[in-house]
Amino acid sequence: MDTVATDAPRVARPSSLEAAISEFGDGAGVTVFAGGSILMVDLVYGRLAPERVLMLDRANMSGLRTQGERTTIGAMTTVAELETATEPLGASARGVADPEIRAQATIGGNLCAPPGPQNPRGDLQGSLIALGAQVRSVGDGGERTEPVEEFLASGTSGRLVLDVSFEAPSAGASASVRRPHAHSYTVLSVSGARSGGELRLAACGVAPHAVRLRGVERALAGGAEPEAAASRALEDATPAGDALASAWYREQTLPVLVTRVLHDLR
Ligand SMILES: Cc1cc2nc3c(=O)[nH]c(=O)nc-3n(C[C@H](O)[C@H](O)[C@H](O)COP(=O)(O)OP(=O)(O)OC[C@H]3O[C@@H](n4cnc5c(N)ncnc54)[C@H](O)[C@@H]3O)c2cc1C
Repeated sequence: MDTVATDAPRVARPSSLEAAISEFGDGAGVTVFAGGSILMVDLVYGRLAPERVLMLDRANMSGLRTQGERTTIGAMTTVAELETATEPLGASARGVADPEIRAQATIGGNLCAPPGPQNPRGDLQGSLIALGAQVRSVGDGGERTEPVEEFLASGTSGRLVLDVSFEAPSAGASASVRRPHAHSYTVLSVSGARSGGELRLAACGVAPHAVRLRGVERALAGGAEPEAAASRALEDATPAGDALASAWYREQTLPVLVTRVLHDLR
C-alpha cells in the first residue's frame, strides 16, 4: 500500500480490498475517494479539507460477477460499465451526466453521493431500490448487508461500501425527465422492477436521496389501476425546487412518470 504523509491530508492508496477495509477501520475522519467526480470539485473549490483520504482506485473493488440469477457489482465499478446492465439499472446509468463523467464515476460514489445544492445526484439509487438490491458495507460495528433504501435512510457516512447485489428481475422499466445540457442532468426519474413476484418502484430527484414509492405499491397490491395508483406517489416524496426544476413541476410530473413505468411493466 502507498501511504503519503505530508502536512496535507494523509492519503492511503491500498492495493487490495482487505487493506482498504483495514485502512477504513471505523471510518472516523476518513474521506473515501472513488471516482472523484464529486470530491474533486469540492476539493478544488476548497469546500472540503479532509484529514485522511482513502483512495480506492487500486483496491481491486470493481467488476460485475454473476452467479446463477444473482449479480454482484463491486463498489468501484464505473457508471459507464453499467450502461448495458439489467434494466432499469442500465437506463439509469446511461442517463448519468456525459461519457467523461460516466467513465470516472462509480456505483459506490453514486450510492453515497451527498445531495447536490443545484441538482439531484444519485441517479442509480432508484433503480437499485427497484431491483431490491442489497448493499454490503463495513464500518463501525463491522460488516452489514441491507436493502439499499435502509442503507440510504440510515445515512451513508461512516460506511465503506464494498458491493451491491440483486437477483435478476423478470421485468424492469424506467422513465425520466432530463434537462438538455452538456452534462445532461436528470431532473426526475422513476424506476420499477418485478422480481420474486413483487413489484418495487422508486424515484430519484424528489428527496435528498432516492425513495421507494410504497404508497403506489400498496395501491397496486389493493387492485388500483396504474393512473390511480400513480396519484399516490407524493405520499413518499417531498420534491424541492433547484436549478433544474421547481418543486411544483416535480409534483406534477412524478405521477406521469410512475404511470408510464407501470404501463411498461405490464
Ligand atoms: C458535471 C457533472 C454531472 C453530473 N451528473 C450527474 C447525474 O446526471 N446523475 C448523478 O447521479 N450524478 C451526477 N453527477 C455526480 C457524480 O458524478 C455521480 O453521482 C457519481 O456516481 C459519483 O461517483 P464518484 O465515484 O465520482 O464519487 P466520489 O466523488 O469519489 O465520491 C462521492 C461521495 O461518495 C463517497 N464514496 C465514494 N465511494 C464510496 C464507497 N465505496 N463507500 C463509501 N463512500 C463512498 C465519497 O466519500 C463522497 O462523499 C455529476 C457530476 C458532475 C461533475
